[in-house]
Amino acid sequence: MFKLSKKLQDLPPYLFLEIDKAKRKARAAGRDIIDLGIGDPDQPTPRHIIEALYQASLDPANHRYALDQGMPALRCAIAVWYKDRFNVSLNPEAEVLPLIGSKEGLAHFPLAFLNPGDYTLVPDPCYPPYKGGTILAGAKPYPLPLLEGNAFLPDLKKIPSAVRKKAKLVYVNYPNNPTAATAEKPFYKELVTFARKNKIIIVSDLAYSEMSYDGYRPSSIFEIEEAREVAIEFHSLSKTYNMTGWRLGWASGNEKLIAALAKVKSNIDSGVFSAVQLAGIVALSGPQDYVKDMCRLYQERRDCLMQGLDSLGWQAKPPKATFYVWIKVPKGKDSLKFAAALLDKTNIVVTPGIGFGRYGQGYIRMALTVTKDRIKEAVERLKKI
Ligand SMILES: *Cc1c(COP(=O)(O)O)cnc(C)c1O
Repeated sequence: MFKLSKKLQDLPPYLFLEIDKAKRKARAAGRDIIDLGIGDPDQPTPRHIIEALYQASLDPANHRYALDQGMPALRCAIAVWYKDRFNVSLNPEAEVLPLIGSKEGLAHFPLAFLNPGDYTLVPDPCYPPYKGGTILAGAKPYPLPLLEGNAFLPDLKKIPSAVRKKAKLVYVNYPNNPTAATAEKPFYKELVTFARKNKIIIVSDLAYSEMSYDGYRPSSIFEIEEAREVAIEFHSLSKTYNMTGWRLGWASGNEKLIAALAKVKSNIDSGVFSAVQLAGIVALSGPQDYVKDMCRLYQERRDCLMQGLDSLGWQAKPPKATFYVWIKVPKGKDSLKFAAALLDKTNIVVTPGIGFGRYGQGYIRMALTVTKDRIKEAVERLKKI
């Protein structure tokens, strides 16, 4: 009787459905599952942040709607953090916007600038909300293949001019989910030139800016001077402070882009719980040794997994950032079938690359969100097949 909207029908199918189902079934049957499929930190939020939430939640002033586009104190803390981290100055009033997690902002942003018939340029493979947000805004995602031969960066020169003309925005995400690739300043420079020339907005997702190894430090696009004309950057406290469930992130960058997103949001939501915002200030302004500890932990797990994959003869590059390892499946194998077979034969859950887009075919993603012992156990199981 009730027909789904055209937009909802147009959303790509959820490709992890079968793996999810098989995983639940295996768990229910009491099988000992090692889940390397989850992009969600397994460690708790640092204690001092939880204490800050508790204290703030006792104050009735924090129980009301948070309608002011984010507390001024939070916007200031973000600007201070930014200056400290990237040496980039932001105006906290106009160039910073707190979000209910960055996914919300990334998915709502297309509503601000896209009309039917417009394109967004989305990496393939990619984090699914870029496509979902585009389609829900009535526009069309145009895939930019991320190929190993090009270090998993989009080849901007290959975008046909007809597509460039219809494109209103381009999504980029480095350090990247799912490939774990990183991007350096020359790439951002080329991207900014491309965007200015073609009047295309850059949406840069920096969710993994603090999760990096071996001394590597990811850059912000705003380290390129001209980026301020054309870019908006999305940040998240989720991965940095083990706060995925809290829902807190922010957008920063071009004033007009920030104002447009704020206008969309003012029609949809009523802000982040004030106590969570206050805890976010404590996270950003407080001691950062927790972040270092987190990186050390993932780095150890990464080294352990890489050693194991090496001994299996599996092909993967050790990631410099993110908690993902992007692994080639044996030649000619389908990523979905390969993942299903791994679950069936070894009780190990991995994410099939095809779930992130067509160019994810031929890969699986493993997340470093289980202990080293479990990683070792996973490698032992893989050795047996
Ligand atoms: C985890 C993740 C996010 C963070 O989302 P939140 O909504 O802030 O929790 C954003 N982008 C990518 C690519 C991610 O993997």
